[in-house]
Amino acid sequence: MYIERLTLQSFRNYERAELEFSPLTNVIYGNNAQGKTNILEAVYLFAQGRSHRAKSDKELIRFGESCAKLGLDFCDSSRSYRCAMQISSNGRKSVSINHVHIMKLSKLMSYLNVVMFSPEDLNIVKGSPAARRRFIDSSVSQLYPAYLAALIDYNKTLAQKNSLLKMLKTKGKRSDPTLSVWNSRLAEEGAKIMNSRAEFVKIINRSSAEIQSEISGEVLSVRYTPSIKTENMTEEEILTYLSEREGREVEMASSMYGIQRDDIEIFVNDREAKLFGSQGQQRTAALSMKIAEAEYIKSIKGEYPVLLLDDIMSELDINRRMYLSEKIRDKQVLITSTDTDLIDKDTETRLFKIENGTVI
Ligand code: ATP
Ligand code: MG
Repeated sequence: MYIERLTLQSFRNYERAELEFSPLTNVIYGNNAQGKTNILEAVYLFAQGRSHRAKSDKELIRFGESCAKLGLDFCDSSRSYRCAMQISSNGRKSVSINHVHIMKLSKLMSYLNVVMFSPEDLNIVKGSPAARRRFIDSSVSQLYPAYLAALIDYNKTLAQKNSLLKMLKTKGKRSDPTLSVWNSRLAEEGAKIMNSRAEFVKIINRSSAEIQSEISGEVLSVRYTPSIKTENMTEEEILTYLSEREGREVEMASSMYGIQRDDIEIFVNDREAKLFGSQGQQRTAALSMKIAEAEYIKSIKGEYPVLLLDDIMSELDINRRMYLSEKIRDKQVLITSTDTDLIDKDTETRLFKIENGTVI
């Protein structure tokens, strides 16, 4: 799939802008703080329904304005889509695809897929388990709406269970029948989520290992380490596991076990990358996992996602840059950089110079 056109009105530091993209490499360049990442952020919004960095949608509206309007035309191998989005000052977003209003923003993922890679993605390797869970969740949710639905339901139930646990602690009570109601619900959704996560990590492991070995000759291995370790993660087994530990959870006034505590372990050359990897190794591992994600999307959807590369070339050495350039040659990429010399260009490459919220 590829994006043809993006229009912005009162979005971030853009008053009005229009960009017509090449189906291959697009380089968005300019000095710091001019609005390069804002372009990628706008595209990402259309794929994921939310920004990759804003805490609140209100931040997306140009200072002093009351609403932002965005438009995106894109196509896949079967048809083309015209997408429009309006963000109001109360933070509400309204979206239409081919003039039909979309009720649930998560629906967007079934039309447009993107994989974003930015310097912060180093956190997949270096950061807390939450960063790794986010990586799995956003990848799997893009492809399987049922996964996202299970996750939303799980988190709602978890919040209810946590407030019950706190209440029990305050009242000095040791148990409550409602606890097993929440646990059954968590076991039901948790089993689905764990199985999907296990499956996803297995695929990413295989494919990112191949990629890492091509880039650097290193051996990458990625393993799912669920918080609840059961043989085959059936709902019943998870429920038993939780029930047996109810007392401890009441004592701690917190949900100690479940997918909210899952992690993945990442090894480079048999050593844990978080602890022993060099900066470059960690970066390459994160990159390999992201490319693996893009290939996974391709294998399921039959369409390669649009790649959004935010300022990453300057962080890679020449070999890693060359590998990446080769890998993305026949795909649509939107790539930001302060230095265009770092990017391989050919006759198909389109360049956009960004200066203080203006596309030149
Ligand atoms: P760098 O190279 O440093 O990453 P960049 O070109 O990617 O820079 P962006 O993050 O795209 O920069 O844009 C940052 C600019 O947008 C800043 O000047 C910031 O003040 C401005 N900006 C952010 N939000 C808004 C907003 N809501 N209204 C107006 N301007 C905004
Ligand atoms: Mg930027």
